[in-house]
Amino acid sequence: MTGPPILRAQGVHKTFRSRDRSGRRHETAALRGVDLEVPLGGSLAVVGESGSGKSTLARILVGLDAPDSGTVHLDGVDFPASTGATRRALQRQIQMIFQDPYRSLNPRMSVRSALRFAHHAEQPGADADEACRTMMQLVRLPESYLDRRPHSLSGGERQRVNIARALIARPNVVVADEAVSALDRSVQADILNLLADLRRELRLTLVYITHDVHTVSAVCEDVLVLHQGLVVERGRAATVMADPTADYTRALVAAAPTVDRPLVTVRPTSPPVAGVPS
Ligand code: ADP
Ligand code: MG
Repeated sequence: MTGPPILRAQGVHKTFRSRDRSGRRHETAALRGVDLEVPLGGSLAVVGESGSGKSTLARILVGLDAPDSGTVHLDGVDFPASTGATRRALQRQIQMIFQDPYRSLNPRMSVRSALRFAHHAEQPGADADEACRTMMQLVRLPESYLDRRPHSLSGGERQRVNIARALIARPNVVVADEAVSALDRSVQADILNLLADLRRELRLTLVYITHDVHTVSAVCEDVLVLHQGLVVERGRAATVMADPTADYTRALVAAAPTVDRPLVTVRPTSPPVAGVPS
């Protein structure tokens, strides 16, 4: 797909410094010069093993963390460097769906309160109840679930609430960090199908972060392979996953358990382009 990049990262570096119990300093170079580009309405998978820097990248892309060096442009504006009203407007455009549906919702808050809270943070004064009902429809949950608390929901239902919470700000870009990894295989497919539907309906741009090579080409058009903070391969997802060229990607694909393979069948079509009848 062509089009201007809605999201572009250039030369992103991030090093974590810590001390162990005996006071020795440790440095972890989590990201070492990462470049990426996602066109408006496009989808990019970021795949790599645990510790490869995926969550660090996700947090920097959505503005939860700042890079040590390098830039992130969202809709053409330098996001980490932005302040005030500009930053708030950009913040609303990009939202994260977190990994763990059990820990990412406050157990004491009803679904309605969680959604209202997110809605208020982004659009104070707007009609939150109407927005809550719309969100439940979007994620295919009954309206009555608004009065439930997380403990009475299944893992898949919780993740639907997490998606609703991310979408209530009406973002253009969604970053899903291992958004289905904690779920059963069959529920993973339901949630990935939902994400594919929502992409089409809302014309979302998706950054899909995963360690699961089998879902990559079902969910995304493009892929970037991360290894120890470096991009080792990138390209069209179907091509890279079927015929990887980097040794690391080959090893990653070869090591993935094939018993997990068949459940995900989603293959999103490109979102409709304005003015072109679909
Ligand atoms: P992934 O999401 O791919 O598993 P992360 O981005 O979480 O990888 O972590 C990348 C590397 O950075 C790991 O070695 C991790 O231990 C380290 N790291 C991440 N966050 C911190 C932190 N806050 N402090 C120290 N090290 C961190
Ligand atoms: Mg992670």
